[in-house]
Amino acid sequence: MRLSLKYLILSVALMSVILTLISSIYSGYRVSKHSLIESTLATNQAYADKLANSTETYLTMTLQILKTSAERLSPLILESGNEDVLAGEADRLKKQTDTFNSVLIVNKEAEILATSPQTLGLKGKKFASVGGKEALEKRDAFISQPYISLTGRLVIFISQPIFDEKGRYLGLVGGTIYLKEENILQTVLGEHFYKDGSYVYVVDQSGRIIYHPDPKRVNEVIDDNKVIQELMAGFSGAMEVTNSQDKVMLAGYATIPTAKWGVVSQKEKKSAVEPSVSMTNEMIGKTLPFLLVVLILLFLISKQIALPLQKLAHYTESSTENSQEEKINKVQTWYYEASQLKKALNYSLNFFQDRVNFFIHQSTTDPLTKVWNRRTMDEYMKKWTEQETPYAMIILDIDKFKRVNDTYGHATGDEVLKFLAYEMKAVSREQDRCCRFGGEEFVILLPGTDAAGAYRVAERLRKKMESAVSPCGEIVTISSGVAAFPEHALHPAELLELADQSLYEAKRSGRNRTIVQGKQSE
Ligand code: GH3
Ligand code: MG
Ligand code: MG
Repeated sequence: MRLSLKYLILSVALMSVILTLISSIYSGYRVSKHSLIESTLATNQAYADKLANSTETYLTMTLQILKTSAERLSPLILESGNEDVLAGEADRLKKQTDTFNSVLIVNKEAEILATSPQTLGLKGKKFASVGGKEALEKRDAFISQPYISLTGRLVIFISQPIFDEKGRYLGLVGGTIYLKEENILQTVLGEHFYKDGSYVYVVDQSGRIIYHPDPKRVNEVIDDNKVIQELMAGFSGAMEVTNSQDKVMLAGYATIPTAKWGVVSQKEKKSAVEPSVSMTNEMIGKTLPFLLVVLILLFLISKQIALPLQKLAHYTESSTENSQEEKINKVQTWYYEASQLKKALNYSLNFFQDRVNFFIHQSTTDPLTKVWNRRTMDEYMKKWTEQETPYAMIILDIDKFKRVNDTYGHATGDEVLKFLAYEMKAVSREQDRCCRFGGEEFVILLPGTDAAGAYRVAERLRKKMESAVSPCGEIVTISSGVAAFPEHALHPAELLELADQSLYEAKRSGRNRTIVQGKQSE
């Protein structure tokens, strides 16, 4: 089955509407997703900056407090008998700053002189941990990398050296932060852990996690992470990154210069772009009713466009009927192409009809005299006989026509024939049928007329011919025979035979006369 124009138009229009909708929804989704990513990155960067700043400030302040304490401890540390004072200072530092999980005062021989809390049980022992040794060697403000402390904890050690007034090194005062227990970093950073999937973590200069909302991840080294590499190179910024758990993250990051640490604030991309997904779903939901209205409109419009062409196509299929022209004319063609098509169809239909009429005329009439031919005459007789329509026939023949031809030529003879045909039509009624029977013999069929009526017509014609000068310049007379159906015969051939006999009788009895079957004219 071939597609109809209506559905073709409908599907093309629908396709373009749907494609436009899809592309606009998709680009809306892309734009909103892009702006969400950009704003998440910017927020995270600003956040990492802020946290790095406050941690930096906090560390600087802590180092300053330790420095003041170191100055205070300088005259006390060498003398013996100050144990209580040292313990008091350690307690004060721990309580005052709230930064440290423990505080230690150590002399230059690495002997631990005081601790807070004292319960650590380290007093009098050697400060021999990795961080401890490094701090003692450094003889400067110091922030260690994470290491395992004497008490077996993962810690960071922050210290200031103690010098006497002559600048001789005496030892150090410092504090530890227990990375795996409740500590100051948690207090500063932990509150910034959001339920929406964004969180903050801190790494040291070697890419080791020193703070993470998930305590299990502390001490993990993640230096293959691009963000960490940037931080280790000393840069701050924001980027999209795939983390060690293969999740795509939108991360902002900033360095803490004093400790050479880095803060990362990040959010999973999936949850960051979630609003654009729900927005798109909402948009699709709101578009559907609109699409339905468009569909109905498109259906109606395409129907209106297709209708004239459909009708024209339909009427052309059976255009042999005469009534098709009228139907085609009634088709409403409201746009150019359809009305042009209608005109063309009408034109070709008319042309076709003219040709048909021409051939019908050719096959039914005599070309010289324009009266019906013998074939048509036979048809009328057959038809009226079948319909039992009473009719009469006059058969007539020109008298001595050979002589006219011989005297005036064939062309003049033709003119005489035309003249006779003209006169035949003049004496007959509209419903009568004047026919050329052959040569110079003619027939007039008179429906609804009996032999007597036909006789009167034949006589009128005979008298007309007898009194008029024909085209040859002479009077030409005719003889006629009359017979009627069903008066004289019931079959056309028989009727013709009888009429012909009467004509013969008219000729034989002297010409220029009419003979009705069995009766002679006066
Ligand atoms: P009659 O009175 O016995 O009828 O004598 P007639 O001379 O008319 O004899 P007939 O009817 O036998 O002659 C018919 C003549 O009509 C013969 C032929 O030359 C002539 N004829 C037949 N058809 C045509 C025609 O189409 N044109 C012309 N000019 N003459 C025709
Ligand atoms: Mg004849
Ligand atoms: Mg004749």
